[in-house]
Amino acid sequence: MAMRPEDILVPTPAGVCCKLGGFHIDPTRPVERALITHAHSDHARAGHGAVLATQETLDLMRLRYGENFAGSTQAAAYGESIALGGTKVTFHPAGHVLGSAQIAVEADRLRVVASGDYKNVADPTCAPFELVPCDVFITEATFALPVFRHGDPGGEIAKLLRSVALFPERAHLVGAYSLGKAQRVIALLRHAGYDAPIYLHGAMEKITRYYESRGISLGELRLVSGATKQNLAGTITICPPSALNDLWTRRFPDPLAAFASGWMRVRARARQQGVSLPLVISDHADWDGLTATIAATGAGEVWVTHGQEDALVHWCGTRGLKARPLDIVGYGDEDDDASPSPPVGEGRGGGSGGDAQASTSASDLSTPTPNPSPTSLHSGAHKRGPGGEEP
Ligand SMILES: [Zn+2]
Repeated sequence: MAMRPEDILVPTPAGVCCKLGGFHIDPTRPVERALITHAHSDHARAGHGAVLATQETLDLMRLRYGENFAGSTQAAAYGESIALGGTKVTFHPAGHVLGSAQIAVEADRLRVVASGDYKNVADPTCAPFELVPCDVFITEATFALPVFRHGDPGGEIAKLLRSVALFPERAHLVGAYSLGKAQRVIALLRHAGYDAPIYLHGAMEKITRYYESRGISLGELRLVSGATKQNLAGTITICPPSALNDLWTRRFPDPLAAFASGWMRVRARARQQGVSLPLVISDHADWDGLTATIAATGAGEVWVTHGQEDALVHWCGTRGLKARPLDIVGYGDEDDDASPSPPVGEGRGGGSGGDAQASTSASDLSTPTPNPSPTSLHSGAHKRGPGGEEP
């Protein structure tokens, strides 16, 4: 009898499981053998028996969790085929963050690709997304609504640099998740010709230095802790988003809060978080990227996970593709672009919740304000909702 996709991979409460190969992909609970797509903490957890991942993902997990984060580890090079049980697995670049991979699992000439998180746009800090033809494509759905079109990150960086030029006495703080987004923002600034020292929050240091050790040039970086308030006038500092809401900001002269995230497309969210300079820069594919990628894989069947599953499942239906949502709890809680504390009425998942968010976003988008008038971070800080975007 011919093999079915479910004979290769099956969703379980612990994550996607391959019984034939004896492993889980990005398990949310400790398992015997885990294949990890990338080092964001919602995908890469400590405590598994054996872990197979790219060298960068293993290194980043070690940096975050310590030497004993797994019983044993094995590094997979991009493109290298590895036999596991009755399957063959291959890691391919996902273009999401350094070391990120899609995992192709093959058995009996049937290929299922678990993409993890991915983006199909250029990023100087990681290998570009590779299209892997397959029978079944497992896609993320973080920004799977037509209102999400990320646009050109270079334009967002130009907006930041204009603000720095306009307010030379102020310190610009850019909230960015510490794995991937922070380093990409720095690389984009360098690409735009910004060659002044860039300041780092201490929480960014280890991972950023690791990126540099893998050959990603980021120019001169300095720690905020070594600078006086006066030194920081007119400078750019990259910090975790949660730090924007922190007493830590008082060490800066008249700080101005920016936030680099795909969610900054939703202006209500930027306002709610007290961000005066929202920068729409995402490490996830937008609606066009998701749909174009799904079509290009040639997959006849699509499994949709973590995010706005319903809209993408519906889109697949209109294209004659078989599609199903995978209800795996635990993804998107700590990711770089995970939706932090959504405003009331913006539920995640569920048809009506998705629709509500779409209309909210659409009305936000109808009144673009490309040059928001920056206000003082201090005066805005108390308006923000609870933090907790990142551990
Ligand atoms: Zn991720």
